[in-house]
Amino acid sequence: MMRQYELVERVARYNPNVDEALLNRAYVYAMRAHGSQTRASGDPYFSHPLEVAGILTDLKLDDATVAVALLHDTIEDTDATREEIDRLFGDEIGKLVDGLTKLKKLDFITSEAKQGENLRKLFLAISDDVRVLLVKLADRLHNMRTLGAMRLDKRQRIARETMEIYAPLAGRIGMQSVRDELEDIAFEILDPENRAMVMERLAEQLEQSDEIIRTIIETVQAKLAEYGLASEVTGRQKRPYSIYQKMLRKGLSFEQLSDLYGFRILVANPAACYRALGIVHTTWQCVPERFKDHISVPKQNDYQSLHTTVIGPFSRRVELQIRTQSMHAVAEYGIAGHGFYKDGVSGGSHLETVKRDSRAFAWIRRTVELLDGDDTAEEFLENTKLELFPDQVFCFTPKGRVISLPRGATPIDFAYAVHTDIGDTCVGAKIDGQLAPLLTELKNGNQVEIITSRAQVPPPAWEQIARTGKARAAIRRATRQAVRRQYLGLGRQVVQRAFERADKTYEDSALEAVLTRLGHKTIDDVFTAVGRGELASKTVLAAVFPEAHPLEPGPAPSSAEGWFGLSEMTSLQFRIPGEKAGAFHQGETPAAVNGADKHAPVRGLDASMPVRFSPDNPAIPGDRIVGIVTPGEGVTVYPIHAPALAAYENEPERWLDVRWDIDPTSTQLFDAKIKVTALNEPGSLAAISTVIADHRGNIDNLIMTRRGVDFHDILIELEVQDVKHLHRILSQLKSNPVINQADRAES
Ligand code: MN
Repeated sequence: MMRQYELVERVARYNPNVDEALLNRAYVYAMRAHGSQTRASGDPYFSHPLEVAGILTDLKLDDATVAVALLHDTIEDTDATREEIDRLFGDEIGKLVDGLTKLKKLDFITSEAKQGENLRKLFLAISDDVRVLLVKLADRLHNMRTLGAMRLDKRQRIARETMEIYAPLAGRIGMQSVRDELEDIAFEILDPENRAMVMERLAEQLEQSDEIIRTIIETVQAKLAEYGLASEVTGRQKRPYSIYQKMLRKGLSFEQLSDLYGFRILVANPAACYRALGIVHTTWQCVPERFKDHISVPKQNDYQSLHTTVIGPFSRRVELQIRTQSMHAVAEYGIAGHGFYKDGVSGGSHLETVKRDSRAFAWIRRTVELLDGDDTAEEFLENTKLELFPDQVFCFTPKGRVISLPRGATPIDFAYAVHTDIGDTCVGAKIDGQLAPLLTELKNGNQVEIITSRAQVPPPAWEQIARTGKARAAIRRATRQAVRRQYLGLGRQVVQRAFERADKTYEDSALEAVLTRLGHKTIDDVFTAVGRGELASKTVLAAVFPEAHPLEPGPAPSSAEGWFGLSEMTSLQFRIPGEKAGAFHQGETPAAVNGADKHAPVRGLDASMPVRFSPDNPAIPGDRIVGIVTPGEGVTVYPIHAPALAAYENEPERWLDVRWDIDPTSTQLFDAKIKVTALNEPGSLAAISTVIADHRGNIDNLIMTRRGVDFHDILIELEVQDVKHLHRILSQLKSNPVINQADRAES
C-alpha cells in the first residue's frame, strides 16, 4: 500500500505548491474511517481509495481531486457525514464527495426506462464539477482492475455497466487510455472466448511483430532526422478489444486484418506535424482516403492529430498518428490532459484552465443545460448520446421521459418499454408528431407517441419486428393468452349449449368427475379442446350422461332461404351494390367518378388526389385512419390498426396523416367486415341476419371461413354508418346465445 509521504511526493512532482497538510488530513481521515473494513479480495478497504488517488496523480490532477479520491467512499460506507467532511475539508471537497456518493447509488444495469433516468442524474452530478467524473472513472478503473475476487454474476454486471456507460463516457471526454483499459477488462469478463481467440492470434505473431514494430520505428525516425526533424516515434500493438471490434465492424477474420499496429510520431509543434506528414508522404505511398486532419478540425472531445496510412517498410500498411506532446496528453487523458504542458499548474487554476479550454467540458455543460431547459428532447440526445452510446437510441415520451432502447428498436419496443399494457394495446405511433409505421427504426431524440386501442391484441407477427426481449416475450405471452381465452370461451359455450339441447343440466362438478375419462386435467382444458375442434361436445355430453342423445345439427337445407343451419352454407350473396369500395374516387366531390355511391369524406388530402378505401381493410368513421400514397394512382385510406399496413412499414414517406370529414346529417354507409363464430345449430344464421337487419345494417356478403363439428366461422361484409353503429351490432350479436364471437375482421 502506498504510504502517506509517497502520495504527497507524487503530487509534488507535478505541483510544487502541493497542499501537503490537506492530503495528509484526507489520508488519515479516510484510513481511520474505513478502519478494519476489507474488500472482497481480503485487502484492507483503504487500499482502494488510495489506489484511486494514485491513478489521479498519474493524470496530474489537483490536490482537491486527489483528496476527494481518498474520501470518495467515506460517506456511503462509513460513519462519516457530509457535515463532518465540510467542516474538516471545506465546502468544495464536501460537495465533490457528496456528488460521488450520489453516483454510487446509480444503477445502470436496470430497466431501460430507469437507465435513462439514471443517466440524467449522472449528468447532473458531474455537471457542476467535472472532477466528480474524473474521480468516478478512476474509481471504476480500480474496481475493474480488482474484480477478480467477486462472484461471476456480479463481475459480469459491473463489466456490462462499464462497457455500456463508463467506457463510452471516458472516451467522450477524451480519456482514451482509461477507456481502452476499461473496455479490455470488460471484454475479458463478458466475452472470454473471443478475447482468448484474439490474444492467441496476437501471441502467435508476437515474435515477428516485435521485429516489425522496431524496424518501422527506426526507419521512420531516421527518415525524419534526415530532414532535420526531431521526433519521438512509438509503436504498439492495438488493444484486443479494438481489434475485435474492427473484425466485427468490417466482417473480417483475424487474418484479414491489415493494421494490428499503430504508430505515433510526436513532434515539437503543430507546424512540425505537417512537415512530418510531408516527409512521410514523399517517402512512402499513402493509402487513399485514409488521411484525416484532426488538427485544424479537432474532434468533439478535443482530440487533435494527423492520421494517415502508408505502404511502409516491408510493404506493410502502416497507420500513423502525428501530433505534439500537448495534443498527445489530451488524446490520452482528455479533460484531465489539458494543462499538462502549461506553466504554473496548481490547484483550482488548473481546473479553471480545463473548464475554459475543453470542448469536452463544454459538452457536459451544454448537455446539462439542455436537461434543465424546456424543449430538451432532440438537442439533448443529439449532443449527448450519439457518440456516447453508439449501440443505443434514446427517445422521449410526450411528457419528456427518456426511454433508452437498443439501436434498431421500433415504436413497438418503445411501447413495451413504457409499459406492458401500452405495448399490448398499441395500434399505431406518431414520431415527432407524424404518423409513422410501426416498423420504423427509432432515432436518437425521437419523441414517440403511442396510439392505443383497448380492443387490440398484439399480432403474433410483431414478435419478428420487436428488437427488445421484453417486447418479444410480452407479445408471445399476449398472443398465447388471447388464443387460449378465445378457445376456452368458445368451448364452454358449445358444451353448455349441447347439454341444454339434450335437456341436461350442465354442472362443473359433473364434468370434473369424468376428466380422466376425457383425458384432460382441468375443465378449462376440456373447453379449450372443444374450442379448438379437437373434442366434440357430444363426446363430453356422453361422458357425463352416457344415456343422453345429443341433437345432431339440423338437416341440410335445400336452399339458402332455408336458413336452418350453417352446415351447407358456403357463400350467400345478399346484395351487391352498384359499386364496391376499391375504386379510386376524386377528392372531396361526392359521386364524382363512375356514378359511385361512395366518396371518401377525408381531410388532409390534396383535393385533386384520387382517394379510395382499402377494400380488404375498410375504414369506417370513428377509426383512426392513415392514407398510403401510391404514386400515379392515388391515396388508399386504412384504419390505423389494419395489419395490411405492415406492407408499407418500410416506406414512411408514403404515409399521410388524414382525418375524417363527416357531415353529421349524412346517411352515407361504409363497408365493414366482421367475423362471427356461431354454433352449428338451426336458426343461427337467421339470428345473425335478424340482428343486423334490426340495426339497419346492410349485409353484402357472407362467407363461411371455417367449418367445425360444433361451430363455424363466418365472414360478413356489411354496410354501417360508423364505428358506434358497428359496435352496437357486434354487442347485440355477442349477446345472442347461438353466437360465440363477433369481432371486426382484419385481413
Ligand atoms: Mn470506490
